[in-house]
Amino acid sequence: MNQPITRRAFARAGAVAALAGASLEAASPARSPQDGAGAASAGADALEVRPYQLMCIVCRIGGGCTDDLGDPRLTAILAAVRNDRKMPVRLCCNVDTVYRYQNPGHDDDTAEGELFNAKRDLDVIQKLGLVPGDARPAIDVFERLLAKIPTALGICAYETVTAEHWKGCPRARSGNYEKGHALGVGAILPPRDQHEKAEYKTTSAAAVYQADTLQIRPHHLMCMSCFYGARENLAPIQEDNLFEAIDVIQKNPQVPVMLVPGCCMICPPCSRYDPATNLCLGGRSMALRDQKKDLDVLQKLGLKYGDVLPARRLYELLYERIPSTRDVCAYGDGEVRAHEWSICGGPEGHAAYSKARAEKLGIPD
Ligand code: SF4
Ligand code: SF4
Ligand code: SF4
Repeated sequence: MNQPITRRAFARAGAVAALAGASLEAASPARSPQDGAGAASAGADALEVRPYQLMCIVCRIGGGCTDDLGDPRLTAILAAVRNDRKMPVRLCCNVDTVYRYQNPGHDDDTAEGELFNAKRDLDVIQKLGLVPGDARPAIDVFERLLAKIPTALGICAYETVTAEHWKGCPRARSGNYEKGHALGVGAILPPRDQHEKAEYKTTSAAAVYQADTLQIRPHHLMCMSCFYGARENLAPIQEDNLFEAIDVIQKNPQVPVMLVPGCCMICPPCSRYDPATNLCLGGRSMALRDQKKDLDVLQKLGLKYGDVLPARRLYELLYERIPSTRDVCAYGDGEVRAHEWSICGGPEGHAAYSKARAEKLGIPD
């Protein structure tokens, strides 16, 4: 008789499914910029991971492992997140308190005992600035781990062994975690292929020049300003198409610009761009901030996605209604309320934007 699969078993099974190339999101079609804002969430269930297991993955990579980490669960987690860098990872650990609703059980406890396992997980999650049950895209979780936890000492073992059950992990002084940490996030989640990026640069830059209508996400109008204002001499860069969009607008200020949700004509060559899904995988939840910036810009300009304006008129409106990046990129008050809601351009606004505003982006009168 078939047993009904529990939610927890499903979350754990996610890694195995991904290994077989069957991750939920991978099965969904790629989105275009036009349908990005309203697309339904696919693959919303998260891969359940113990906080210490994040560290162990880094530690095993630092010890010389590549795909096979010498532990089936760690190997499966690594395969799953490599298969889908944006896979939601939910950090669950065993606690006695009100957070026990997410307790994963002791199946993945290591040999050092229940008490040590409980403390190690809480140590990791505290240093990450998260709470039990929190979920984030895999790329965010690993970038955060490397930013917040440089060493295994003090977490996996302590300077002084106060009792046998606090002896800790025998690998804690191996230096493997620190070596894995030094290798960086690219050793865990390999970056986008350089040749593929270069090809995207060539084709997408050409597309900007050939377009009858530029398709640009709202806050990228502002980023184009920062790009312009920060440079003595404007020139193309490999990482995006900001220059090309400015160049087209300076040469033809009447070119129509359509405001689109999500990734736009600026993005295809970017290291953080995922061609398969047309999503931005920038760490520290960049996509979250970017969507808010887009919506803030639309609201301040009184526009909506799909609106088309001549570039000159659009920039007149932008500079009239948004005098500083503080109003959008620093949320209007310059307060960083959480790791994910960081500020770009400084709490008082980016000087480069002010310069571009004063010079009207170099658009000729
Ligand atoms: S020292 Fe042990 S527990 Fe800590 S990360 Fe390395 S293998 Fe994992
Ligand atoms: S300050 Fe805002 S507009 Fe300027 S580069 Fe950063 S995100 Fe873009
Ligand atoms: S960081 Fe994200 S939004 Fe910005 S250019 Fe790259 S892919 Fe596009």
